[in-house]
Amino acid sequence: SSKRLFFKRRTRRQHGHAHPSGEPAAPFRPETSSAKTLMDVGTRRIFSEDHDLFRESARRFFQEEVVPHHSEWEKAGQVSRELWEKAGEQGLLGVMTPEEQGGIGGDLLSAAVVWEEQMYCNCTGPGFALHSDIVMPYISNYGNAEQVERFIPPMAAGKCISAIAMTEPGAGSDLQGVRTHAKRDGSDWILNGNKVFITNGWMCDLVVVVTVTDREAKTAAHGISLFLVEDGMKGFQKGRKLDKIGLKAQDTAELFFEDVRLPASALLGELNKGFYYLMNELPQERLLIADMAIASCEFMFEETRNYVMQRKAFGKTIAHLQTVQHKLAEMKTEICVGRAFLDSCLQLHGEKRLDSSTASMAKCWASDLQNKVATQCVQMHGGWGYMMEYPIAKAFVDSRVQPIYGGTNEIMKELIARTIVSTK
Ligand SMILES: Cc1cc2nc3c(=O)[nH]c(=O)nc-3n(C[C@H](O)[C@H](O)[C@H](O)COP(=O)(O)OP(=O)(O)OC[C@H]3O[C@@H](n4cnc5c(N)ncnc54)[C@H](O)[C@@H]3O)c2cc1C
Repeated sequence: SSKRLFFKRRTRRQHGHAHPSGEPAAPFRPETSSAKTLMDVGTRRIFSEDHDLFRESARRFFQEEVVPHHSEWEKAGQVSRELWEKAGEQGLLGVMTPEEQGGIGGDLLSAAVVWEEQMYCNCTGPGFALHSDIVMPYISNYGNAEQVERFIPPMAAGKCISAIAMTEPGAGSDLQGVRTHAKRDGSDWILNGNKVFITNGWMCDLVVVVTVTDREAKTAAHGISLFLVEDGMKGFQKGRKLDKIGLKAQDTAELFFEDVRLPASALLGELNKGFYYLMNELPQERLLIADMAIASCEFMFEETRNYVMQRKAFGKTIAHLQTVQHKLAEMKTEICVGRAFLDSCLQLHGEKRLDSSTASMAKCWASDLQNKVATQCVQMHGGWGYMMEYPIAKAFVDSRVQPIYGGTNEIMKELIARTIVSTK
């Protein structure tokens, strides 16, 4: 199918090296700091020409299928189901899913292309990254053959929308404090509890639920399991779509489980191994938040550059003011420094070498930078920067959550600090 096309050529040419067949070397790829704009296609040495093609198609998809509808989705508090299916048809969901499971068999960098392109269009409604690169890996990595076969193809097709439910009203940072509980009943499990702030929570067909299965375990972490709960199961109810200060088109919701009967086949991976699986998968979640944060900075920078070059004050454009120029110079420098670290993290993670503390550094630093850049860009827009009709205002409110979710930045510092004081 057409969506597989992008990856057929992958082995043909490696960037920067002559192909053994004598094919000429790919042209030199500038880094972001030397590129014409921070969102140019064909830049950054971690990517190849095939990634560029994929980026172009992702960019076209977001511009054509997301941008025109986003304000309507912001009012509705959710995107459309049709969008998910279209994204699936284009190969933009579960990019790393192998072809035999309905995916395009892309690499991590291709997944990153989709994260970045979503931020470049300034539309935060679609919860694609969470679905594709946070939830799907739990099933691919810990699911049995039957679970993989049953869920992965429809997830890659956008016909099964997914969520992950860790946070509860009384337990966020302290994940070991979750109270949602499953009790054995014959070979079944009976699930009770509630979750809050769940991304894709209203639209989800499938949710991975972090659950206590052994209250007597030697530590709470040893008594947690993951369950696959499906929409429509008796006793599973979705609460309201939460009214947030940003991410207006994202269907963040509460979930309630009241005596939900789960078959043994709903257990994901091994019993009481849930906490261990979470610890394994959280670095990827942090990496994608960080990469999206830098991509958002790149978008906000270009948006602001365009604005100051046409906005006039005192007879000239405000881009003539040295204070504005210095502010742009500082921002560009910081964004490019951040991009260099992120690209290094993306490359390391592509080689399965990104450790948890490095991923935490990326998440913490990049999401703080995003908020700093957002504040400065709004300032350079003056009063118009405070108006929701300007893209920078939306980028500003959307950036606020990034230091909070995926583990707060205070928790990131805990994780970073732990390795500092324990390895010496
Ligand atoms: C829009 C949105 C989407 C979300 N999506 C999901 C989702 O899909 N699935 C999901 O499970 N969760 C999701 N979350 C929840 C998110 O991960 C939590 O909000 C976050 O982990 C913080 O937990 P909390 O809200 O309970 O805050 P708390 O843990 O109560 O923290 C309150 C404050 O105390 C600080 N604090 C807590 N403990 C420490 C410590 N040991 N040291 C220093 N400071 C500390 C925190 O950093 C924070 O500043 C989402 C949240 C939002 C807002």
